[in-house]
Amino acid sequence: MNAAGPVTMLHLGDLALPAIWLRDACGCAECRYPATGQRLVGSARVARLYPDLAVERHAARDGRLTVVFAPDGHESVFELAWLEQHAPGRGARLGDQSAQARVAWTATDLPVGPPRVAWDAYLRSPVAMATALGAVEKLGAAVITEVPARPGMVLTVGRSLGHVRVTNYGELFDVRVEPDPEHLAYTGLALAPHTDNPYRDPVPTVQLLHCLRAAGAGGDTTLVDGFAAADRLRETDRAAFDTLTQVWLPFSYDGPTSVLTCRAPVISVDDEGAVTQVRWNDRGLQPPDVAPDRIGAVYRALAAFGEVLDEADLAVSLRLVPGDCLIFDNTRVLHGRSAYGPTATGEPGSGGRHLQGCYVDMDGLRSTLEVLRRDGTRAVPTQAGPAGRGRAPRVVATRASARPIAAAR
Ligand SMILES: [Zn+2]
Repeated sequence: MNAAGPVTMLHLGDLALPAIWLRDACGCAECRYPATGQRLVGSARVARLYPDLAVERHAARDGRLTVVFAPDGHESVFELAWLEQHAPGRGARLGDQSAQARVAWTATDLPVGPPRVAWDAYLRSPVAMATALGAVEKLGAAVITEVPARPGMVLTVGRSLGHVRVTNYGELFDVRVEPDPEHLAYTGLALAPHTDNPYRDPVPTVQLLHCLRAAGAGGDTTLVDGFAAADRLRETDRAAFDTLTQVWLPFSYDGPTSVLTCRAPVISVDDEGAVTQVRWNDRGLQPPDVAPDRIGAVYRALAAFGEVLDEADLAVSLRLVPGDCLIFDNTRVLHGRSAYGPTATGEPGSGGRHLQGCYVDMDGLRSTLEVLRRDGTRAVPTQAGPAGRGRAPRVVATRASARPIAAAR
């Protein structure tokens, strides 16, 4: 043990380790419940109990750092490899859903659309499943192919990766031409790229669209990475970007049995300015209810973002064929479609384009993915880069190194 005297900041090579942070990160049985890893002494309690905490002495050997704290003599043991990754400022962040932690793309990055995984492989192989879900996490979209083109299968896919969110549109919704549509989605009209249900709080986070029948002509699906678009707006028109992140706008849907309203920014950012969400849907956005002198800036910003979203190099176009199930992050990826005609007989669902959709929650998808990574083989990759970039899969940390190890105080 080095008796360096009580220090509030322990320097170890190029690691700077604040004493109170080390104590907060302690994984011993007094500090965390061993069976679940849940905190027994949380950060706020640490801060109140130990305002003058210091490292009394420490020893680093065999890949481990042992620390004894003053004033109470508590001892903690950490894996140095874990500290290298998780010490303050080291960048390994828990739960970062911002653009910074994911991979933005434009059309050239996904020349054949989002990564595709066959349903059979997805069901059989944790690696295949992790590839599909990892693509949704990193890129915001994936396609599972060859899902039996039977009504209701979209729910089977949804339940395989998370929890289906029931809304006023039901557990699943049919997207096809209907004679008396309660929603523009149920017409053959073209839809510009948008996010779904902007009037909902929270918005549905993951959307699945399963193709049962393709249109004879038209009805192609368009995807735009909202993160890439928002970043482009920031580069080209900072004032517009700032307006859309700072001004909250009203969204609403007034339907036969539902009235849904929400105020939210078009672009959400995290504490460091990285984009975390895009909410873009002209059909649900209501006239801005901000002070008169800000109105002009809001419309100018909306126009500017609309122009960016129309830029052709951002859009990936794909034609869903029966069996394809598109899975995308509705808080990030905008989806649209080209127009398509009514059915041959004029009857809904009698031969025209027919998709079934459902919503699941991103936290469930990410949990499924994390469990695959934690329990899976080393072959389960942590990220799926855009096609064509040749990004090598990185191997995940094992569970043992994913949190500080217990000390036998
Ligand atoms: Zn402890």
